[in-house]
Amino acid sequence: MTTDLGRFLIRLDREIRADGDWGAPADYIPELARIDPAQFGIAVALADGSVVTAGDADKRFSIQSISKVFSLACVLGRIGEQIWTRVGRESSGARFDSILLLEREHGRPRNPFINAGALVTTDELLTGRTPRDTLSEIINFLRAAAEDDDIHIDKTVAQSETETGWRNAALVNYLKSFGNLKNAPEETLGTYIHHCAIEMTCVQLARAGRAIAGLPGAPSVIAPAKARRLNALMMLCGHYDGSGDFAFRVGLPGKSGVGGGILLIAPRRASVAIWSPGLNVYGNSQMATLAAERLAQHMGWSVFG
Ligand code: GLU
Repeated sequence: MTTDLGRFLIRLDREIRADGDWGAPADYIPELARIDPAQFGIAVALADGSVVTAGDADKRFSIQSISKVFSLACVLGRIGEQIWTRVGRESSGARFDSILLLEREHGRPRNPFINAGALVTTDELLTGRTPRDTLSEIINFLRAAAEDDDIHIDKTVAQSETETGWRNAALVNYLKSFGNLKNAPEETLGTYIHHCAIEMTCVQLARAGRAIAGLPGAPSVIAPAKARRLNALMMLCGHYDGSGDFAFRVGLPGKSGVGGGILLIAPRRASVAIWSPGLNVYGNSQMATLAAERLAQHMGWSVFG
């Protein structure tokens, strides 16, 4: 199985590079806009404990919104189901940074993976702690999940987003106006921007997802019942207004980030990280989505049979 998969990934890497329809990197965070889009990496952590890779699987990239899965995991560990009084669990059908829905829903974001929702989860995690301790909690969760201590925040990316993140500044202030923010807007926003700026390799990210996939031997960083919740949300809301299209094409829970990464979960079978920095119209990686589609099809991993 590992050898067949290894051969498939090498072929996939070649096909993706030959295709060349990379898309463009996120342009609203200057530090990300600079990245060469012609890059591709993939790592597949399997139930037998092995990790099979191809391409730029050891190159660090900004995980951005993929961090929202792990901040939510920390919140679920801390306050459990209470979080749903502050944030919903429905697809948004709107852009990742939409403010429109927030007005319509009276300050309760539709799900924890759109920016407004993730600001609320970060705010919950920050309550009663300093930003530094909150960030340590998320990073330590990732390190434990990946069994790798070499995971850090890229301060240059955090600084770049701090200087240009006007929409998130609007969202966090708007949440405050509805009474759905417990901390000072600038503290919640700063903590959010910094956890989005965590950088990881595909290998580290695939290993960090093993507990969410319920793989045997994965570190027990999250209870199985909570991992099921994360999978459901990733399936319904993991790709913003492209979530339906992703479920249709790939048939697996996943979470994308504007850094070009996707964490893909094949429950009980594999945790997969794919990275290619060019994005499609929804703000999801163009080539990582294509690779996810081909991998799921090749392996017969769709949860829909
Ligand atoms: N830090 C990014 C933002 O808030 C995350 C967005 C994403 O990865 O989709 O705009």
